[in-house]
Amino acid sequence: MRLMVDSAKLAIEIAKDLIRAPSLSGEEKEVAYYIRDTLSNLGVDSLIIDELGNVIAKIEGVENKDPIILEGHMDHVEPGNRDLWKVDPYSGKIVDNKLYGRGAVDMKSSLASMISSITLLPDKIDRTVYLVFVTHEETAEGVAFKHALENTIRRKPYIVILGEATNLNIHVGHRGRCLIEYVVQGKTAHASMPHLGLNALSATSKSIVSILEAFEKTRSYHEKLGYSTLTPTVIECSPKVTPQIPDYCRVIFDRRILPYETEDTILRIFRKVKEHIEHEGFKIRVSILTEELRFWTGKIVKVKDFFKSWILDEKSMYVRKALNIIRTRIKPDATIGYWKFSTDGVYSAGEKGYATIGFGPGNEDLAHQPNEHVPLKHIEKAVYGYANLILTFQ
Ligand SMILES: [Zn+2]
Repeated sequence: MRLMVDSAKLAIEIAKDLIRAPSLSGEEKEVAYYIRDTLSNLGVDSLIIDELGNVIAKIEGVENKDPIILEGHMDHVEPGNRDLWKVDPYSGKIVDNKLYGRGAVDMKSSLASMISSITLLPDKIDRTVYLVFVTHEETAEGVAFKHALENTIRRKPYIVILGEATNLNIHVGHRGRCLIEYVVQGKTAHASMPHLGLNALSATSKSIVSILEAFEKTRSYHEKLGYSTLTPTVIECSPKVTPQIPDYCRVIFDRRILPYETEDTILRIFRKVKEHIEHEGFKIRVSILTEELRFWTGKIVKVKDFFKSWILDEKSMYVRKALNIIRTRIKPDATIGYWKFSTDGVYSAGEKGYATIGFGPGNEDLAHQPNEHVPLKHIEKAVYGYANLILTFQ
């Protein structure tokens, strides 16, 4: 039996508390314990923190149907330059009926609304509901969510509802993302005699220009998601000594990808340029970047930075049902949209093809910005939005 509470007020209190507990990727412990304790007080049928530090709660349905999953991430990005903030990013301050702070939009208000929405559910529901709050999304979306689905839930969901900010609209997809590592090995020499060396930095600059030119000519377009993009974001060379020719240079490219683009098609232009530059004597390695993630539980996971694009058909029953209930009960002019950024949907929809939609409070353009804020009205409406979505998908 769940407690009788003012669900909207409760969500605002929870959102404030969450903002006051910093939870950078890999440091979500305090928030995870807070959420576990809050859910435990509200009453759920089971509740665990798994080995990657995810919090997973279950509200048992009376029928044996595929479950509904409400999903969000507990981590957030750095606040950045504090001088640009009007309030302390970890104060959870309310100004003009808006809640301010790092994570207000991305995505602690949403977590709070999801948690509070369970107080609006009847004692008995048909379909089991899982609340899944994951770690390390900002660094590697989909990784912790995959772990929760494969190791704890272990069932195909009926629908996954992502809580990333949508301005209370329904979102149904986004571009994917991958990181490409391009490493050039040359030959060092005294800078006064460059002809004796093979300058890895020069070869890398030449490569970047050629790769970007080739990409511009071939890049693809999707009518809903827009263009694929490619841009270099990190470069380093060694030895970093001014009178010496660098024999090593590494650059990382951020590539935003459209549905049906594969690792192979993406790397094709890189390989062509590599071949061309290698004729000059350099050795080049091109690959999708892999990284090691350390979770707050101490667990380390190796991750390949390739995250698939996904789209759920706007005409599908899931989208029609969701839009209909949100327009009827929450936001009469709600629309269907697509995120500009990437989400945990890269796993549920991109990898697995599970029906996945997004609904969340706040304006996505404010995510990762100084003075990130969300109107209190959005939090209130999101609480009812989540409860209505759960009930409509029974
Ligand atoms: Zn997010």
